[in-house]
Amino acid sequence: MLGREMSASAALRCPSCAQDLGRPARPRLNVGSPFQECPKCRSHVSRPATNEWALLGAGQKVYWLGVRILPFALIGLVPALVYWQTTFRGGDGQLPVLVALLAAGPVLLAYLPLANALHSIRRSRARMADPMYRARLIAFGRQAPGRP
Ligand SMILES: [Zn+2]
Repeated sequence: MLGREMSASAALRCPSCAQDLGRPARPRLNVGSPFQECPKCRSHVSRPATNEWALLGAGQKVYWLGVRILPFALIGLVPALVYWQTTFRGGDGQLPVLVALLAAGPVLLAYLPLANALHSIRRSRARMADPMYRARLIAFGRQAPGRP
């Protein structure tokens, strides 16, 4: 139980007691609590690249939403492209069908990742609504920009 386990360099470890905190230190931007409490020694451990929605800059918000939603929206364009290539270009297709495919594909495919993103934002806002949590954030050195 104690002692150094084989170094899983991908795992996030407590800097105080080296407890494995069980999640990989992902370098990709994440919406979430920027710290977590070590279950062993109770120290607060920074989670790199993770921050609350309200504390992200505008560019970070756009990037975070983009990497989640854009790939799905692009895949959603495939049916329209196939229709255009196989039918419409030959003169047999109907414009309303092409327009419907263009509109519906990205919306349908992007719906789930968008719902997930909105869920993360709602949970972030719920955390930030707690004054105790905000006080801990400030103690941890992450503070809301433009705070009075
Ligand atoms: Zn610890």
